[in-house]
Amino acid sequence: MKVLVVGSGGREHALCWAIAASPLCDKLWCAPGNAGIAQAAECVPLAADDVAGLVAFAQANAVDFVVVGPEQPLVAGLVDRLAEAGIKAFGPSQAAAEIEGSKGFMKDLCARHGIPTAAYGRFRDADAAKAFVRRTGAPIVVKADGLAAGKGVVICQTVAEAEAAVDDLLVGGRFGAAGAELVIEEFLDGEEASFFALCDGTTALPLAGAQDHKRAFDGDRGPNTGGMGAYSPAPVLTPELERRIMAEIVEPAVRGMAAEGRPFTGVLFAGIMVVPGPDGQPVPKLLEFNARFGDPECQVICRRLTSDLLSALVAAADGQLDHVSLRWREEVALCVVMAAEGYPGDYVKGTEIRGLDRAAEIEDAVVFHAGTTRAADGRVLATGGRVLGVTASARTIIDAQRQAYAAVDLIDWPEGFCRRDIGWRALERG
Ligand code: ATP
Repeated sequence: MKVLVVGSGGREHALCWAIAASPLCDKLWCAPGNAGIAQAAECVPLAADDVAGLVAFAQANAVDFVVVGPEQPLVAGLVDRLAEAGIKAFGPSQAAAEIEGSKGFMKDLCARHGIPTAAYGRFRDADAAKAFVRRTGAPIVVKADGLAAGKGVVICQTVAEAEAAVDDLLVGGRFGAAGAELVIEEFLDGEEASFFALCDGTTALPLAGAQDHKRAFDGDRGPNTGGMGAYSPAPVLTPELERRIMAEIVEPAVRGMAAEGRPFTGVLFAGIMVVPGPDGQPVPKLLEFNARFGDPECQVICRRLTSDLLSALVAAADGQLDHVSLRWREEVALCVVMAAEGYPGDYVKGTEIRGLDRAAEIEDAVVFHAGTTRAADGRVLATGGRVLGVTASARTIIDAQRQAYAAVDLIDWPEGFCRRDIGWRALERG
């Protein structure tokens, strides 16, 4: 099978790494890829959101199967355009990707199908939005409806802050069309985790839980980022909570989407807040749905999966997931993201990274690349904000953490930084 993976992050490197190992895979391309992906796939210089270019490439090269990593091409309809050209793809249609592309759509879907989530309102009018804020009180969360790369969410501690956020997003138009409508919702106080399921339009197959680290610095301080590290499984998601997430959140969403004529095929990523229920026992509430793998959660999930990923993705695209069962390493995988100094603000590009080969020799460690490129003279250069995802697996979280940092410490990149406490929540639980 000839396969094309779309994207250039650590997530797509992990996908290429797993797909290249599949006996089903005869040829693998990645568009646009990066220096690490180039070791597993042939990189194609096409941007992930170049829908027409990607369809033309897939046609010209008789690609059998396309795996779409990031959300933008999904929301832009890449899977639909590929289907029209007769090319099979893994990922939701444009209509189904609205589950991520519009927070208002996602919240209304939850309301229609009884999925537990924060109480909310949808607003296009600033006065109505502010009246809702005053009625509900603080803390309260103000969100741009559309995609804003994680930057369109404002957690407000006071009513005045929330009114200012309404003005900034709705009146100031900071996110353009994505912010022309707001979702304002109740603040949920609890512990956050991610849960992933493969979906084929009618069936949902649980993958795994994971926990990300959104803040830039140790101790969950500093600005929000795309994610500075992750591990899987996440001890906060007990087997009972995972069962409830499937039964109360994932399965009703998959049934609801199918019933509404937008069957969801792909990875359904449920952002969960575990909150105390009425009897004090933890219960899951949905924060958001995403229509793709998380990054860096994908890296730790791929590291743990022992089944053939490609055949599972093809089964999902073919509506055949009820025939699939997945096997996992009985281990914890942990990923430490190395980012360019200054990220998520301005950062320097083009600095050299050394020691990658030595790091990869650490037992059970894999260095996934994100923002890297290989110079003509063979040197690996950092070109993005998040640059490497150093991933290890071991019997316990503490060993996985030790192995991952042992690999990190062999990487010679003075212009990079990472958090030194990835895994702290899981370690604290013992
Ligand atoms: P991303 O895709 O980067 O996760 P997003 O733009 O899709 O972000 P959300 O996931 O809805 O936005 O919110 C971003 C973060 O804000 C969440 O991961 C969570 O930490 C926090 N958050 C969102 N909604 C709530 C809520 N109702 N209560 C408490 N925290 C919230």
